[in-house]
Amino acid sequence: MMSNNYCFDPPDPPEHKYPICPLCNAECETIYHSCDGDILGCEHCVSSVDAWEWQAEEEKNAGPDPDRLYDEYMDRQSA
Ligand SMILES: [Zn+2]
Repeated sequence: MMSNNYCFDPPDPPEHKYPICPLCNAECETIYHSCDGDILGCEHCVSSVDAWEWQAEEEKNAGPDPDRLYDEYMDRQSA
């Protein structure tokens, strides 16, 4: 006996053009993860700072000699 020959619509095409970030649910092109494989986010919810600037700020806030590294950073910028 022949099975019914109904023609079902194919599944809907993917709604999103880009993959969805599991953290912020934004469409993204890049997923960042740690060396352990933990997902850190995408280009929309992860940002980077200049390490020298970050270190200068950290030292400025907590260091015993707050101006030294910052001055070194400023010298580096003007070099
Ligand atoms: Zn994200």
